[in-house]
Amino acid sequence: MCGTRARIDPAHLVPRGLGGCEHALCVVALCRRHHRAYDRGCLDLVPFLEPRHRAEVAHAVGHLGLIGALRRLSGRREASDTA
Ligand SMILES: [Zn+2]
Ligand SMILES: [Zn+2]
Repeated sequence: MCGTRARIDPAHLVPRGLGGCEHALCVVALCRRHHRAYDRGCLDLVPFLEPRHRAEVAHAVGHLGLIGALRRLSGRREASDTA
């Protein structure tokens, strides 16, 4: 998704701990570096997702609601959702 072709990881947009599922729309391809950054909450994925991955965003909204999904995808986590 970030344009890298080396060492692609399947990254859960919504982690399983927060209800993420195994649906194809729940997972995006990220390089390892971006995957780690996203999992740590240090990467804003929204610019990568918009506008070509709206189906994935909609799927994440289905899991977390609009506010929760935006917070998650933008890397702006609450201290309480460290999963
Ligand atoms: Zn899902
Ligand atoms: Zn990358």
